[in-house]
Order: sequence, then C-alpha cells, then structure tokens
Amino acid sequence: MNLLIIRLIIFGVLFFAGMKLYGIYREWQMERAARLTRENRREGGQMVRCRWCDVHVPEDEALRDNAEWFCSTAHRDRFAQEQRRSSTSDDH
Ligand SMILES: [Zn+2]
Repeated sequence: MNLLIIRLIIFGVLFFAGMKLYGIYREWQMERAARLTRENRREGGQMVRCRWCDVHVPEDEALRDNAEWFCSTAHRDRFAQEQRRSSTSDDH
C-alpha cells in the first residue's frame, strides 16, 4: 500500500517535472524562432524600387504586382491605369 503511494508521488513529481521542462523547452524554441525571424528580416531586408515613383522600399513592405514592385496600392493602381490607357491607345 505504501509502495503504491510512493509510486504515485514519484509519478506525479516526474509528470510535473516533465511538464515544466517541456514548457521551458517550448519557450526556448519560440524565443529562438523569434530571434531567427528577426535576423532573417534584417538580413533579407532587400530594397525594391516602386515602379511608379522610384522610391526604394523594403521588400516586405512593398507590394508586388506581376513582376513590378510598388510602394503603395495607390501607385500600383496608378501604374495599372496608365498601362491600360497606353495599351488601349496602342490599339488605334
Ligand atoms: Zn510609389
């Protein structure tokens, strides 16, 4: 009977220790992942040029439309508009 209680206590202690270790491990892993993404962002912070206004913007903040880069939706729309207009005038 006593042995069963001791076993239960040991099991409980091991269980909680495991949970605690798992929590520490998860925290470490998340911290590491966050640090890696921060580093990637800093290193991979390539600059692209807005097709419309020639302003340089970081790639992750820029908008991509087909092969062109834009600094904002407004400039993307302006460029698309301009292209539509020139293509329709070319037809005539
Ligand atoms: Zn622009």
